[in-house]
Amino acid sequence: APVVVAIDGPSGSGKSTVSRAVAARLGLSFLDTGAMYRAMTWWMLANDVDVDDTDAVAIACAKPVIVSGTDADGPTITVDGQDVAVPIRGPEVTAKVSAVAAVPQVRTRLVELQRGCAEVAQRGIVAEGRDMGTVVFPGATAKVFLTASEAARAERRAAELRAKGVDEATIAAMAADLVRRDAADSSRATAPLSQAADAVLVDTSDLTLEQVVDTIVELVER
Ligand code: C5P
Repeated sequence: APVVVAIDGPSGSGKSTVSRAVAARLGLSFLDTGAMYRAMTWWMLANDVDVDDTDAVAIACAKPVIVSGTDADGPTITVDGQDVAVPIRGPEVTAKVSAVAAVPQVRTRLVELQRGCAEVAQRGIVAEGRDMGTVVFPGATAKVFLTASEAARAERRAAELRAKGVDEATIAAMAADLVRRDAADSSRATAPLSQAADAVLVDTSDLTLEQVVDTIVELVER
């Protein structure tokens, strides 16, 4: 069976950086499933779908064509052929993505796409998100649940934003939004963020990227 490495955790746990690095080290494909929920949300906002209207979202979510490029060296995401890598990281999408991701029809559609990506991956895939180990890839080769203290997570996100030249007021607003989003993602009815029973918990608060990657590579190879 192809290798599937399932990595879940809250925002700011270092998931994306870690997952990409693990994929690159092992020569596997990489899938950022959060980017797919963001792309779906971006499309809803661009097409004036009321994202707080669950029924409207449930119907509309069948329409956009979302394509994830799974090269660990340069992942891509398009919606109806348009590159949306930049706008999906913006505050408008970030503020609404949890509401869109809570709609069961959205999840059903994106989970199907995610499994499709794993099927076509040449040597295997590292998939990161909130429900990789619990719902999407229950039979994964290795499952990891990444955590970090709230302080460490907020600090990491702030450092990322500061490096991009984002001002301090916006950084503070995004930190508050991060706490709200994690609460929403953990409490929703469908596929809430949770650690799979057979996932290995890795607290990244006091570890370097290198140490986290080594830990996960060891899990995959054993
Ligand atoms: O990982 P990222 O922060 O980009 O994810 C954005 C949002 O997408 C999360 O806050 C969550 O609401 C949703 N998501 C999800 N299930 C996943 C990945 C992301 O519900 N597997």
